[in-house]
Amino acid sequence: MTTSAGLVIFTDLDGTLLDHHSYDWSPAMPALSQVREHRIPLILNSSKTAPEIAHLRAQLSNVDPYIVENGAAVIVPAHYFESAEREVKTFGTSRDQVLAVLSDCRSQGFRFQGFADMTVDELAERTGLAFEAAERAMDRIATEPLVWEDTDDALRAFQAVLAQHDLNMLRGGRFLHVMGRFDKADGLRWLMQRYRQHATSELKSVALGDSPNDWQMLAAADIAVVIRSDCPANELPSGGQFMIYSNHRGPTGWNECVLSILNQHGYAYRPTR
Ligand SMILES: [Mg+2]
Repeated sequence: MTTSAGLVIFTDLDGTLLDHHSYDWSPAMPALSQVREHRIPLILNSSKTAPEIAHLRAQLSNVDPYIVENGAAVIVPAHYFESAEREVKTFGTSRDQVLAVLSDCRSQGFRFQGFADMTVDELAERTGLAFEAAERAMDRIATEPLVWEDTDDALRAFQAVLAQHDLNMLRGGRFLHVMGRFDKADGLRWLMQRYRQHATSELKSVALGDSPNDWQMLAAADIAVVIRSDCPANELPSGGQFMIYSNHRGPTGWNECVLSILNQHGYAYRPTR
């Protein structure tokens, strides 16, 4: 059955559109070309920084807005909506405020090393990233990844101090991420409002993700796609939205689910202009 609703797709990157290990997205190419053909906005929404996503977005020939650093900000290209300027919409605490709290924590005796404490060469060496890639990872708007060099007890005390300053700590694959109280759903809600102002038909949001830091984004979407991964499923969103579970992991699962949604809903976002 088809509906007359247009779609806007929000997607996580690592383990969702990109293979968790190789970062390859080629298995998703059939669905990606259908998305482009139907002029459905595809919003990349990841923990990566603005330069990191911009780099990938160019490789994907994507021209849509994108959401960076786990929901810290939405970047809207110039002339995309009504503004002739590139827009950066931020949610919550800035990186300067985060770094000020971290500097306080260090003077209280907590031991850790953040990106702000490293040179590009040091980060490249620690992560195995090429110099240019390390530079892109360091160009941050609102979040600070760090390596914990203290005890587990100290980490619990550290988290309590962060909470007093209205900051969150998210555990990533390699680093701890200190950030304000925002998540990947904030940018989804803000962008859907913008799209709805420009749409001539009903719009539905589709969100795809594979990890707990995606669940708020999935819970805020009309159609939520859980891409198969090794993460425990007991924290899945339960906002009453339409849920789809992929059979395959990463970009193969992305391709399978997006093609199936397009078969059912297959209509594009039609801007009024
Ligand atoms: Mg992921």
